[in-house]
Order: sequence, then structure tokens, then C-alpha cells
Amino acid sequence: MTRICKNCEFENQDEYDYCAKCGTPLVEGLKPKQVYIYTGQQPQINKKAVLISYIVTIFLSWSGVVFGLLTKNTTMSAFAFFGFFMPFYLLQAPVKELKIHGVIQFIISAVGVGLSFYIMLH
Ligand SMILES: [Zn+2]
Repeated sequence: MTRICKNCEFENQDEYDYCAKCGTPLVEGLKPKQVYIYTGQQPQINKKAVLISYIVTIFLSWSGVVFGLLTKNTTMSAFAFFGFFMPFYLLQAPVKELKIHGVIQFIISAVGVGLSFYIMLH
């Protein structure tokens, strides 16, 4: 015997108390349960936000380098350190793809900070 869901008409196995498809209780008197249905889709990533994070990272970590080279004034190189903020923010993201962007941005900002140091010391 199968337990047919009143909500979505999915045929559940007899031992199921909740619908495997939509989570509706199959037994009278049971409270609805929070279920996470795996749809097979990748989590949606805001591509615009990722692009902006790249611009912010590149701007912050490389503006110090550019200003240092143009003005021979190394105080602007301190800006490069702010460039480290965004990659670390992304590295904490729960989505793997965002973590990869975080690693890429970390490398970009690390090179920028490295160059800033080079300019500062020469
Ligand atoms: Zn159902």
C-alpha cells in the first residue's frame, strides 16, 4: 500500500509519515515539517555582484600601485591593503564557485600589495 499525498498526489512508501516530494504530513495529526527539496540546480550566483567584487578588489589593491608609480608618492600604497577585504569576504561564502572567485581575487590583491611594497621600499 502506498500513501498518496493529499497535496501533490505523489505516491509515497507506506512507512513515510511525510511526503517525500513536498513534505506534507501523510498521517493525520502530524505537524508540517520543514523539508529541503533538492532540485538538482546549482545555487544562483549574482554575477553582477561577483563582477563588482572584482572591480572593487582590483581598484583597491592596484590603485596604490598605480598612484605610487604615477606620483612617486608611496602613501597611497596603503590603499592596497584594503583590497584584501573582498577576497576574504568571498572565501567565507557557502558556495564553492564564490570561494573560487575569492581565491582568484586574493591572488590579484596579493600581487597588488606585493607591488605596493616594492614601490614603497624603492
Ligand atoms: Zn506531496
